[in-house]
Amino acid sequence: MTAEISQIRDAIVNGAGGDEIGALDLPESVLAAFTRKDQQDMFEGIPSEEKDPRKSLHVDQVPLPPLGPNECLVAVMASAINFNTVWTSIFEPVSTFAFLEKFGREGELGARHDLDHHIVGSDASGVVLKTGPGVTKWKPGDEVTVHCNYVDLESPEGHDDSMMDPRQRIWGFETNFGSLAEISMVKANQLMPKPKHLTWEEAACLGLVSSTSYRMLVSPNGANMKQGDVVLIWGATGGLGGFACQYVLNGGGIPVGVVSSQDKVELLHEIGVEHVIDRKAEAYSFWKDGHQDAKEFRRFGKKIRELAGEDPDIVFEHPGKQTFGASVFVVKRGGKVVTCASTSGYEHTYDNRYLWMMLKSIIGSHFANYKEAWESNRLAALGKIHPILSKTYPLTETGEAAYQVHHNLHKGKIGIRVLAPEDGLGVSDSELREKHRDKIELFRRFSD
Ligand code: NAP
Repeated sequence: MTAEISQIRDAIVNGAGGDEIGALDLPESVLAAFTRKDQQDMFEGIPSEEKDPRKSLHVDQVPLPPLGPNECLVAVMASAINFNTVWTSIFEPVSTFAFLEKFGREGELGARHDLDHHIVGSDASGVVLKTGPGVTKWKPGDEVTVHCNYVDLESPEGHDDSMMDPRQRIWGFETNFGSLAEISMVKANQLMPKPKHLTWEEAACLGLVSSTSYRMLVSPNGANMKQGDVVLIWGATGGLGGFACQYVLNGGGIPVGVVSSQDKVELLHEIGVEHVIDRKAEAYSFWKDGHQDAKEFRRFGKKIRELAGEDPDIVFEHPGKQTFGASVFVVKRGGKVVTCASTSGYEHTYDNRYLWMMLKSIIGSHFANYKEAWESNRLAALGKIHPILSKTYPLTETGEAAYQVHHNLHKGKIGIRVLAPEDGLGVSDSELREKHRDKIELFRRFSD
């Protein structure tokens, strides 16, 4: 840690005011987790599960970029591992250096991102250090969470919904200078107020998966869930699923969670999800010899009906190839399959007769616009949703943390302490934390 960085960290931990923080000197370089362009072919020919993020994610000093208009430098107190960092680290389905090169062709500001290293990470909690020209809403010393929708809105297409902007990007995945660095560079319109009752590492889990789940389920841009809807949630204790369950319960829906172990079944019961399917114990095999087995779809559908009494109105999809055929099959006549990913493979096969004859629909969803991200952050600030944070690692062990997520060895989220010297810091409203103590203690029981 450079002298400047330890001064910044100490000032934040000791509660320095905005003027003091704004006057601090910035270092020329910071510690960050990154992949290297000269290694983007390192896993060629190796099966996905053997591609090891511990080999491709490096943690070392990298130079700080020059700050542009409407941008801020944020001291990152904590971050979290998202699956997109796994994708970047195994260079699948494409090397993210291709995104940086494309960005580099878009002018002077974009060219800053096209480097021989890619600083990853799409979630942060921290403190604003410097603001660029044009920033008026935020100032040094503000405690923030960061969402990852990186967009200028220069085109008309994004003005109803910024996710429709042709140049919309995911920060720390399609841009450089992501959150797994002591200081990160963001656009001012990525910032949101940090929920005051959360620790740095809890607040750092909210931006990406909570906002994505919010758009998929709650927003009219997604499935627009209503009271009483039965919602089948794949990976219900995962990053997305842990928030999806809470949004369904809060909105008066009936979640049916799918998980792969008994301890996850119990976790869901404890947070109020009554209907849970252990997919490993049930040994569903939707695919046999390269074909999908409708008998297995029926067995799965029967189980959902036994539990919830009816077919799901909505299926919350992200495993992709392995489950998509089953999701289309089991969703109710007129129901919606809302999907944001394809973890097990992006070429999906499903029997279209079940879709058109039963008037079902498939909704593609990707991250969230600023309003949706802000709304999901607000719900966390109100104590209505809370992260399942099972583990934290220091920045230096980012590779191991990404390895855990790659191999589905985690529950909920894995946090990364960046400048936060230990877990448990960052709460600025202890009265509010006390008010939500029961919920916080319940969720804390799921940490390893
Ligand atoms: P995660 O924390 O790893 O959780 C995913 C869960 O899915 C796992 O806990 C696992 O639960 C379940 N799962 C994995 N493979 C499965 C399979 N073959 N069949 C059934 N269930 C399976 O990941 P996440 O953060 O929730 O993200 C999930 C996916 O969504 C990733 O591909 C990620 O890149 C993508 N994503 C996309 C967006 C977007 O904006 N488009 C945003 C966030 C995430 P069990 O083993 O317990 O069943």
